Amino acid sequence: VSRFDGVTMAPPDPILGVSEAFRADTNAMKLNLGVGAYRTEELQPYVLDVVKKAENLMLERGDNKEYLPIEGLAAFNKATAELLFGADNPVIKQQRVATVQGLSGTGSLRLAAALIERYFPGAKVVISSPTWGNHKNIFNDARVPWSEYRYYDPKTVGLDFEGMISDIKAAPDGSFVLLHGCAHNPTGIDPTPEQWEKIADVIQEKNHIPFFDVAYQGFASGSLDADAASVRLFVARDMEVLIAQSYSKNLGLYAERIGAINVVCSSADAATRVKSQLKRLARPMYSNPPVHGARIVANVVGDPTLFNEWKAEMEMMAGRIKNVRQKLFDSLSAKDKSGKDWSFILKQIGMFSFTGLNKAQSEHMTNKWHVYMTKDGRISLAGLSLAKCEYLADAIIDSFH
Ligand code: PLP
Repeated sequence: VSRFDGVTMAPPDPILGVSEAFRADTNAMKLNLGVGAYRTEELQPYVLDVVKKAENLMLERGDNKEYLPIEGLAAFNKATAELLFGADNPVIKQQRVATVQGLSGTGSLRLAAALIERYFPGAKVVISSPTWGNHKNIFNDARVPWSEYRYYDPKTVGLDFEGMISDIKAAPDGSFVLLHGCAHNPTGIDPTPEQWEKIADVIQEKNHIPFFDVAYQGFASGSLDADAASVRLFVARDMEVLIAQSYSKNLGLYAERIGAINVVCSSADAATRVKSQLKRLARPMYSNPPVHGARIVANVVGDPTLFNEWKAEMEMMAGRIKNVRQKLFDSLSAKDKSGKDWSFILKQIGMFSFTGLNKAQSEHMTNKWHVYMTKDGRISLAGLSLAKCEYLADAIIDSFH
């Protein structure tokens, strides 16, 4: 007998569990389209050149490993807020942003959830249906109640804008509305600029608080500014906004756990108080954040040459994904004799495509074709090469029938 006999087996994680199953498969044709991590055309992991250069700089300078302050590396916090809002955004000049370095996107979301739980007891977070699988875990573990708003319309494989607006309207006044800044995960479907304005209208009317998850800035379109447009639109309306950021995808720093939580407040005084409480929440959770990724970001953003090289590498990564998206669409359209319209694939943006495959069909993709993907029909195009598009198209068409 074990004292832990009462501990039951936890289910595998729906996203990270896919990689475990992939590793166990010995078939040569196997493809891992589960996790959202960028691969080269040879399907190998990629470390950005600017990251290597920034790391070399750190070695040359002999940077030490002393603890960071609870709020993180000052140069990182400055750089990350400026990237998000634009360096001359009034909210920065007026010191109205509380920025705290977090353990990547996930840890930053978790810190914000803890703030909501403590200072907005009973307030609800409304999240899109569907959303990134970890959002629900994060709010559950933080004991923050949540419900869903309609987002995806299976009939059009597009945005259910009317449903979204009416569900946000129906949420209790003062709810937090979780929004994906760009490249919505898992659907790849974003609102248009006009739709963002209407979403902001409703959120303002209802006194809700927008809460952005920005995991793909620069990675969706290739432009850091274009991908931050949704956040900036809300900030320009003088709203108070929460924004979690991640550098996992756009700098390829997955395992470094580097990101931030930003809270835009209506006064500098409020921002100071919010920041003090974020630090208070972080201290007993993990004490202080890791320094390595923070230094990489600060070095890359702080050096004009490296900054430009980063932008070029981001465009290259975004471009490769766009090429794969196009090739997959071409292959599906050429091979499929059913007359199905595949153009939804081209309308989606970011690293994912939502195929419309259901759970049984997604399982068929894995069992018969050795294509590993999440059961909601999402595939990561970042894990696909041009060379494998035809094979994948065969698998998708077969699985639909
Ligand atoms: N939010 C969304 C929508 C994501 O897709 C991801 C990663 O897949 C994250 C947050 C957080 O990732 P990380 O914790 O690695 O920054």
